Amino acid sequence: MEGLVVVAEIHRQRSKPGRPVGFDRRFASGHITWPIKEKLVFNTRSWTPGTDGAERGRAVLAPTSDEELEALRGHLKGAWVIATSGTYAPRFGSDRDQLRDRFGALCDEEGISGVIRPSGKNGLLRTSGNYRIEWDNLPTRVSILLLRDQFSLIYDYLKEGQEVELEFDIDQSFTEGPIPQYNVIAEIPGTDLADELMIFGGHLDSWDGAGGAQDNGTGTSTTLEAARLLMKAMTEHGVQPRRTIRFMLWGGEEQGLLGSRAYIAQHPEENERISAVIVHDGGTNACSGIRATPLMMPLFQEAFAPIIQYTADEEDDNLRFRLVSAERLPRGIGSDHDAYLSANVPGFFWEQRGTANYSYVHHTQHDWVPQVVQAYQRGTARVVASAAWRLANMNQTVPRDDMGQRQQRGQRDRNAKRVGVFLGEGMEITDLVGDGLAKKAGMAKGDVIVSVDGKEVANQRKLATTLRELKKDSAKIVWKRGDKLMAATFDWKAKTAVSTEP
Ligand SMILES: [Zn+2]
Repeated sequence: MEGLVVVAEIHRQRSKPGRPVGFDRRFASGHITWPIKEKLVFNTRSWTPGTDGAERGRAVLAPTSDEELEALRGHLKGAWVIATSGTYAPRFGSDRDQLRDRFGALCDEEGISGVIRPSGKNGLLRTSGNYRIEWDNLPTRVSILLLRDQFSLIYDYLKEGQEVELEFDIDQSFTEGPIPQYNVIAEIPGTDLADELMIFGGHLDSWDGAGGAQDNGTGTSTTLEAARLLMKAMTEHGVQPRRTIRFMLWGGEEQGLLGSRAYIAQHPEENERISAVIVHDGGTNACSGIRATPLMMPLFQEAFAPIIQYTADEEDDNLRFRLVSAERLPRGIGSDHDAYLSANVPGFFWEQRGTANYSYVHHTQHDWVPQVVQAYQRGTARVVASAAWRLANMNQTVPRDDMGQRQQRGQRDRNAKRVGVFLGEGMEITDLVGDGLAKKAGMAKGDVIVSVDGKEVANQRKLATTLRELKKDSAKIVWKRGDKLMAATFDWKAKTAVSTEP
């Protein structure tokens, strides 16, 4: 692609000394072989061992008493242990002396094939794993997470005294590290403000329990498509952006933002030249908005005006783009923009809306391409391309003053009085903070805040000042739901919000 400079950056980051370990997952199958034949749906944690070819063995229930433990003695070699709950699951290598510790020791002594645990009730098999292991001390125990219904079937057989035989063939292995990881970086060079950067991206890696379609194939593909759309438009119109537009696909995000953190550590001098970093890492739902602090809002209103206008008459409301005002930029969402926020660079995670259920696919066995919604992907690529072009051509960079101050103030004064909402136009609540007082008060999305302590709050700045100037620890906040007035007494000291007469 003409005009794009591709740079690969090799890095690795380890929190512990010693030889690191790579992990490869290839093939896995499992069956009940007796008394019925049934294929099993399961997964294993990453960075754990597989089996030595097909391992067939009897299923045994973890003991719940010393008598049951004694009855298992001599019968555990090659067995698959059915561990119903944490209380009875074998615990290995512990120096405590509870039933589960003695069971763990017996399992090790006789050589079981592995331990099988049930998935959650929702039937989702979530993949995770700990990469912080060492080549000289590799995990040796096979640990299986089995679909709950199938787990229950085996459990019920065993409870009835029916023998059950299982077979697993799991081909996964360790590789001696270090394993190089890569960030993929492409740039459209700017012109008069070329040394300033507008960054868009997502992460390139995914958990290996499924295809990683929405975590984060959706984010990497919209980044690539936005780059293509921009290059096409620029070529057609013979124009170049003022600032440099950079697309970044980071590696190692799932292991703790390794790619973005390593890049920032290697290029600290760039941080002050970055206008903003905007990350798409929330699955296939449409990137339908962005949060902005009061200082950022005027710039965003100008930058996003075309996409807001262009999408305003979309039939699907999820594709209509909107700005969301926020007291500060939210942290701890857990994607690469957090690494930039930590370096005091404005980092954004797109607001996303749509019909897709992200928690159904997030790190689960269902994260495959058929769940991806094409219309949302197209809409998002359009949003990213538009944002890139506009923000790269504004007269100013994204202000970071109020982000920094607010953050410092927040750190200094943990008791700052907050309502616990995100606000859109006209004081309309667009979202609630997970554990905030607004939630306790019963506020909901779509409600409109009217007054605090008898003072009308017509805009967010007024709300902030009113809260800051409160002389006591509590205040009555009034809001509107449709035509109905509602109220609650917010008490920031007691951390309560109790309904009251408006
Ligand atoms: Zn992700």
